[in-house]
Amino acid sequence: MGAELRWLALGVVLGCRTTASPEPTEERAAASVASAGAAASADKAGGGSTAGGNTAASSTAAPPAPRTLSYEHVCMGTRCTIQAYHHDEALFQRAVHAAMAEIERLDRMMSTWVPSSDVSRINQAAGNGEWIAVSSETFQVLEKSLWIARESEGAFDITVGAFKGLWKFDEDNDGSLPARAEVLARRKLVDYRDLLLDAARSSARLRRPGQRLTLGGIAKGLVVDRAVAVLRAAGLKDFLMQAGGDLYAAGRHGEREWKVGIQDPRAAQEQERSTGSSFALLSLADLAFNTSGDYERFILKDGKRYHHIIDPRTGYPVEHTRSVTVLAPSSFLADTLDTAVFVLGAERGLKLIASVPGTEAVIVDARNKLHVSPGLSGRLRLLRPPSEGP
Ligand code: ADP
Ligand code: MG
Repeated sequence: MGAELRWLALGVVLGCRTTASPEPTEERAAASVASAGAAASADKAGGGSTAGGNTAASSTAAPPAPRTLSYEHVCMGTRCTIQAYHHDEALFQRAVHAAMAEIERLDRMMSTWVPSSDVSRINQAAGNGEWIAVSSETFQVLEKSLWIARESEGAFDITVGAFKGLWKFDEDNDGSLPARAEVLARRKLVDYRDLLLDAARSSARLRRPGQRLTLGGIAKGLVVDRAVAVLRAAGLKDFLMQAGGDLYAAGRHGEREWKVGIQDPRAAQEQERSTGSSFALLSLADLAFNTSGDYERFILKDGKRYHHIIDPRTGYPVEHTRSVTVLAPSSFLADTLDTAVFVLGAERGLKLIASVPGTEAVIVDARNKLHVSPGLSGRLRLLRPPSEGP
């Protein structure tokens, strides 16, 4: 849960937020994503914003018509949006504020930016033998991290936190690259088998001094699921909950399913503003849709891209993948898999996806070639090939 403001992988009907225009068509909705992403840094600082898409009618006794209601704010260091198809704006507001409170509660447990978080305390105690008691949510994320680490044979490894301060892709990004010797030295600290868990006491520790965890590749998905549960409990059925590239689509958008776009990893900014940033569209109902990309947090140096997903075996950013989108029944599972598949690459990544029931993936490799899991054939609508670029 780093501190990025990323270009959104998708989104629907944000145009309504400012323009009270009629409901956009699905295509226009997908195309509006990019401008929404580009506007992310202009997010309201204080408490987010909500807006309705059109005005509820009227003076007669007709029941109020559902409409698109939107909220956006920065959470977990990224841009979070909630959109619902509902008639009651007051209910929407209450639901959104409860969901945001839940997100903040979980972020305080799992972020490395919060010194008192569960994860920070585990990191501070690395190597000293002390067991650190953590919340049930953090424990669940740690257990899942070890599961995917084993499944991916170490391609996914939350002890890549050891690279903190060396690879600088968060708000510490000053454009500098680390010396090779330092990368190789830190790489020795990366090994998920040194994360020890005690389920009976909901405790964890790291075996060696200097080791560090980061849950940036996995925790946001669990948080999105929890926010979705809060939104449902508050009375919403049809909504999109999005945090950066992690999205859950609940129910429907009126007569249609929610339609989302997959971000073109190399879309030029001008193109994003005019025709949108998606190269493909998908319809979703009660499904998570998460994208990991090398375009989110990166440094371009001498025509070469260095980004925030690290291959634990080399200590360097993964070079064979540009983006991975995973569909899954939960955002937690989708977030767990997207980073793992990114590191594994298309061939091994699709094998992993095939082994986990209910999941699908779309991968853009370093040569811009698309790899799509068999279950998505006929469901993915390609708009154009992904753009070329370094
Ligand atoms: P986000 O959606 O926030 O970009 P991703 O799911 O794409 O997150 O995962 C990227 C994050 O995962 C990185 O910022 C870093 O914190 C963490 N990470 C990087 N490489 C690995 C890896 N090999 N295994 C596990 N986590 C990783
Ligand atoms: Mg992930």
